[in-house]
Amino acid sequence: MPEKVVIIGSGPAGWTAAIYAARAALEPLVFEGEASQANQDSGRPPLGQLFLTTEVENYPGFPFAHLQPFLDSAISKELSYLRFPAPKGDEKHAVTGPDLMLLMKQQALNFDTRVVTDDILDIDVESRPFKLTAKQGEVTEAHAVIVATGASANYLGLESETTFKNRGVSACAVCDGALPRFRDKGSVVVGGGDSAVEEADYLSKFASVVYLVHRRDQLRASKIMANRAMDNPKIDIVWNHVVDEVLGDDEKGVTGARLRNTQDDSTRVLEAAGFFLAIGHTPNTGFLQGKFEMNEKGYLKWTTPQRTYTSVEGVFAAGDVADDYYRQAVTAAGTGCMAALDAERYLAAQGL
Ligand code: NAP
Repeated sequence: MPEKVVIIGSGPAGWTAAIYAARAALEPLVFEGEASQANQDSGRPPLGQLFLTTEVENYPGFPFAHLQPFLDSAISKELSYLRFPAPKGDEKHAVTGPDLMLLMKQQALNFDTRVVTDDILDIDVESRPFKLTAKQGEVTEAHAVIVATGASANYLGLESETTFKNRGVSACAVCDGALPRFRDKGSVVVGGGDSAVEEADYLSKFASVVYLVHRRDQLRASKIMANRAMDNPKIDIVWNHVVDEVLGDDEKGVTGARLRNTQDDSTRVLEAAGFFLAIGHTPNTGFLQGKFEMNEKGYLKWTTPQRTYTSVEGVFAAGDVADDYYRQAVTAAGTGCMAALDAERYLAAQGL
């Protein structure tokens, strides 16, 4: 028997779609992704990008609080091996990215969502029901599909960057910038687009100085954003430089960055506790190439305003895989809900 709805992806969009689909009696099946080192390293682990972050302070409903007793009661023992260790002592803390995602998964499981820990490598969009092929080779038929595979932040690819990930290296200043480790210290932001300026501007509220390191002598950011960077006395734009190495040690994490001048090859060292990448994201749509309408950056296109329809009827897109603009956990969850409602109405219209 074909599935009514298959959801591909296990970030906020995927689990929210699952919760809504399950409560609509659509008995969703979620492909959460393969739990492999390769997926982890390429920024696509099961439970999504939030699984790679530390604390999440901007998801409503989880204010700074003593969360441990609640988390202990809400996340089942079977899932708890994936949790972050509880913070020492009794200090206040926000929910961690992994805990938030485990709560969402737990909520979907509570409504009998079924989960397969595997990647989907192909969707046959010509057949009805759709045929989805998983990495392990299994083929699943589905009347409706929700794609929620997200996007992965781009990194420079330096070994030192990997070493200090989550210990000062982050690809989301808005998520991590307000953490105590970055306060009143220097931070480096790499990139020259709107995100880089936005992140530098945001960080300047907490950091003593923000070095915006750009490889050219002109920002790609829009004029208004570029002016914001130039006018901010706490932002020091370091033109024509690339990063050779992130510096740090085991105890402190990131302590700085070594840069190289693209004009004369000279090097300089910046002192910083934070190293933020803002050099774009890559949507996880490789397996959909040639089958769906995408924008020039490879993000799935929503074909109708205020709907999660893709160019293939019966396939819906939710979260960052179709959003290169907001890219927040809460907006992803919102479009996950929309995709489940769209799928429910589509199936009803088909008499399925
Ligand atoms: P983007 O516009 O593609 O900019 C990426 C930046 O990273 C570019 O400056 C690029 O340099 C640099 N870069 C790329 N690869 C690099 C590498 N390997 N080493 C060093 N630098 C590298 O991406 P974005 O800033 O994330 O923006 C994405 C979209 O969201 C844009 O459409 C943007 O307008 C929008 N956005 C809007 C706002 C807002 O309006 N408030 C905020 C954020 C994002 P080059 O310039 O040399 O290519």
